[in-house]
Amino acid sequence: MTKYIPEPFRIKVVEPIKRTDRTERGTILKQAGYNIFNIPSEKVYIDLLTDSGTGAMSDNQWAGIQTGDESYAHCRNWYHFEQAVQSITGMKYVIPTHQGRVAENILFSTILKKGMIVPNNNHFDTTRANILANGGVPLDLVIDDGKDPEKYHPFKGNMDIDKLEAVLREHGPGNIPVVFITITNNSGGGQPVSMENIRRVREVCDRFGVPLFFDACRFAENAYFIKQREDGYSSNSIPEIVREMFSYVDGCTMSAKKDAIVNIGGFMAFNDIRLLAPVKEKLIQIEGFPSYGGLAGRDLEAIARGLVEVQDEDYLAYRVGQVRYLGDLLEEGGVPILKPTGGHAVYINALKFLPHISRDQFPGQSLVVNLYLEAGIRTVEVGSFMFAQKDPITSEIKYPDLDLVRLALPRRVYTGGHLEYVADSVIRLYKNRDGLRGMRILDHHDSPLRHFFAQLSFL
Ligand SMILES: *Cc1c(COP(=O)(O)O)cnc(C)c1O
Repeated sequence: MTKYIPEPFRIKVVEPIKRTDRTERGTILKQAGYNIFNIPSEKVYIDLLTDSGTGAMSDNQWAGIQTGDESYAHCRNWYHFEQAVQSITGMKYVIPTHQGRVAENILFSTILKKGMIVPNNNHFDTTRANILANGGVPLDLVIDDGKDPEKYHPFKGNMDIDKLEAVLREHGPGNIPVVFITITNNSGGGQPVSMENIRRVREVCDRFGVPLFFDACRFAENAYFIKQREDGYSSNSIPEIVREMFSYVDGCTMSAKKDAIVNIGGFMAFNDIRLLAPVKEKLIQIEGFPSYGGLAGRDLEAIARGLVEVQDEDYLAYRVGQVRYLGDLLEEGGVPILKPTGGHAVYINALKFLPHISRDQFPGQSLVVNLYLEAGIRTVEVGSFMFAQKDPITSEIKYPDLDLVRLALPRRVYTGGHLEYVADSVIRLYKNRDGLRGMRILDHHDSPLRHFFAQLSFL
């Protein structure tokens, strides 16, 4: 059992959260159609729905908000933002957007032609959706160990180099406009990618003349894992590791709602000047002038400051330590989780937690709903409720490999006490798991976004 690493900050502003009682939560769930996205946040005691945009900004970031220059063009905060992104990525051209997915939209609508392939370790949902929307083919090439929920590997987010090489050889640079690596690998459980793997992917890309980009949302968490786990990096500073990581890529897309610790924002950065004109044109169409890109001056300032803060090693030790601590508590209580824990979330293996509930009865969603009912904790299902799809021809239902429940930790928001409450509640539920029932969807439709809207009930 690892010890809890104390918060490297003290609390100056508090936001009260209220505990509801079980009866009230039962009524709320019924009104919400047993879909946790429909629950008012004020009725949630501990909200582990996502780590995206839910972080707590520092006093330094809030002070920066006050210095927002809201001029339309080239406000002072733009220069701070541009400088911060350049110093991390080492890249020339910086494009601000209001979310990461807009950077993806702009990039893929610029470089993709119908039928082109984009390999990645694992595409995040929005990346996949933006590739598909532009007629492309998203390909996941994470190593086999990355798909095994219980196998220990220090870098489960690594790309399978042989598979990448085979894909590049078969389809060639003409049909593969870019290779992506997602750091950390969100869809694979927040698992890191090693420096060696990044370097080897670079070598393969060089050999075939294909550019390499990061989906860089959790670049600092990834750098911390490299420092902790990879030979030769224990005495490097986090900014040094970050600079080396980015030295191997030609560009990146990023959601600032993750490792810039702000509530809204994103960007794209790259070196190829040929991308600049078409990207700026698209940016003006859908976001705004290239010095603000859908953000206020104050947002640009908060991001600039957050990008520096997130690279603080004490912060990262506490951050990754929180995830590991929650994982350890659950494991001690016998709860089956994905191992090792990653950078931003603990994932419960719902197929093992509720083996008596079959996949068409959504064990993960049952766990999510019961955890809210019993303890006021909001989590999210990443499994058959989110991903199961009916084959349009055979009508056969295809299930994802795993049914997971994700407990994502917002940055700098909850304390060790909150995590212990979460662990106790999950363990209590685990002890009473035999009494939990499966669920069914009431308003069935086959949209890939159904998990945001569908209504359910208990069986
Ligand atoms: C959150 C996320 C995105 C999308 O960013 P948004 O700001 O939510 O649009 C893309 N990739 C990864 C890996 C993410 O975690």
